[in-house]
Amino acid sequence: MNAENELVTVVSDAVENSAADDASSKKEKFKFNLFGRKDGQKEKTRKPKKRYHIRTQLLWGFGLFTVIILALLWIFQIALLNPFYKLIKKSEVRHTMSEVVESLDDDDYIEELMDLCRDRNLEIMLTDEYGSKIVSIVNGRSDFFDMLGSDMACKIYSKVSNSGGEEIFTLDGKNPHGIYGTQSDESFVYIKLCSNSAGESRMIVLTAELTPVDATRNTLEILLLAISVVMILMSVVLAVVLSRGISRPIESINESAKKLAGGDYETEFREFGSKETCELADTLNFTRKELGKVESLRRELIANVSHDLRTPLTMIKGYSEVMRDIPGENTPQNVQVIIDETERLTGLVNDMLDISKLETGNMKIDPSLMNLTQSIKAILHRYDKLSDYRFTFDYDEEIWVVADELKISQVVYNLVNNALTYTGDDKSISIKQERRGDRVRVSVTDTGEGIEQDKIQNIWDRYYKVDKAHKRAQKGTGLGLSIVKKILDLHGGAYGVVSTLGVGSTFWFELNVAENNE
Ligand code: ADP
Repeated sequence: MNAENELVTVVSDAVENSAADDASSKKEKFKFNLFGRKDGQKEKTRKPKKRYHIRTQLLWGFGLFTVIILALLWIFQIALLNPFYKLIKKSEVRHTMSEVVESLDDDDYIEELMDLCRDRNLEIMLTDEYGSKIVSIVNGRSDFFDMLGSDMACKIYSKVSNSGGEEIFTLDGKNPHGIYGTQSDESFVYIKLCSNSAGESRMIVLTAELTPVDATRNTLEILLLAISVVMILMSVVLAVVLSRGISRPIESINESAKKLAGGDYETEFREFGSKETCELADTLNFTRKELGKVESLRRELIANVSHDLRTPLTMIKGYSEVMRDIPGENTPQNVQVIIDETERLTGLVNDMLDISKLETGNMKIDPSLMNLTQSIKAILHRYDKLSDYRFTFDYDEEIWVVADELKISQVVYNLVNNALTYTGDDKSISIKQERRGDRVRVSVTDTGEGIEQDKIQNIWDRYYKVDKAHKRAQKGTGLGLSIVKKILDLHGGAYGVVSTLGVGSTFWFELNVAENNE
């Protein structure tokens, strides 16, 4: 076997080995842990807080609400019924008394008093200061007024007169005047002294019967008991129905989220239930898709990077070994292969470092005034050796911008390199610089196959390659345009691409032109 054959065997063996390793690395299943924990690594132990099911919480909530409502109903309807009734009756009696006093000077005051008594179920007696009855209007119950003779009325007059001219009491027990009610029903008695317009003193005695509320209370008690039972049942049913409605979508989302956390990016978050849970499921579906994309990009990256790194390394190793072992193989051509492969490796590693620095925000730009036109010219000058390719640079004037010269050169390099890689058989690349108001646009046009419209939005993503199988695309890392994008974002510049299938692509970017005083 001659030296050349030996070299080919060594290199092909090494490439085969690396391909086998590649395949096994592709097969490897990468688990993605949502919480960033390594498998088996547990979260720090925190004191567990007791958590309750939505169903239990709703049951407690509804139960408490029902108990409060029932307690309020019982207190107001049953316990406070009598005191409230008396309070209302008392204020009604006071109100009527003021109407009686006002009507005393009217000519037809007796009719007015009769109307009042009939409408409000009251009894009124009017006496003079000596206790002589002037008017007595009763509604069938005359006990109190009957037993109130003129002597007693006269005594009451003087007593009330001494105690401020008015008094209100009930006839259910011993009252200040020693009068006992003979009626079985409880009554309010309101006594007021006044004088009419003629200056005659008058005593108005007003009695109002207090209807016993016991019967009403008993009825209300039975009603409230029924209401209580119905409300308790309803609250349990409502709590169960509502909690099912709320917890079922959450449980389903939780199930899917667990699957997602386990690395199943196909799991679907079902959208049902309330608006919020539907929105949550929608957001999680979006997150799932994005995570899936990241995961497949990650797998691809590892596969690509291991391939991209191994191929040049294998070549370098193979050629070096051959040059060491076989006399006469230490030729400039073989050394050039090693240099080329080393450059490829350096480019790849640099791209990866750049993108990671740009993404973590560790790369800062250092803007200064620079001559963009001269910078582009200098870059193109380096392609002079590629005599097969035809470069044209079209510009009207020299333009200055405030930017990081190194980074902007990297942008131009990446765009020109892509154009070089993808341009058509005529091997022509045209670069144009044009001023648009206070902006300058640099565009790099090739005559290649162009990019499909539905792929165009993805080409700026990291590690994205339109056609991975494409021989030319295999050279790249899929990082060039994402570096361009990041650098231009840092400069506040605009960028874009216009591409027509079969005609070619124009990648462009825009920067602010530096004014003279800048
Ligand atoms: P790469 O290092 O693979 O070129 P880039 O980020 O620079 O990565 O480009 C991403 C993808 O965009 C490429 O893989 C290629 O499919 C597509 N692309 C970039 N520039 C061009 C171009 N001038 N013509 C056609 N396709 C292009």
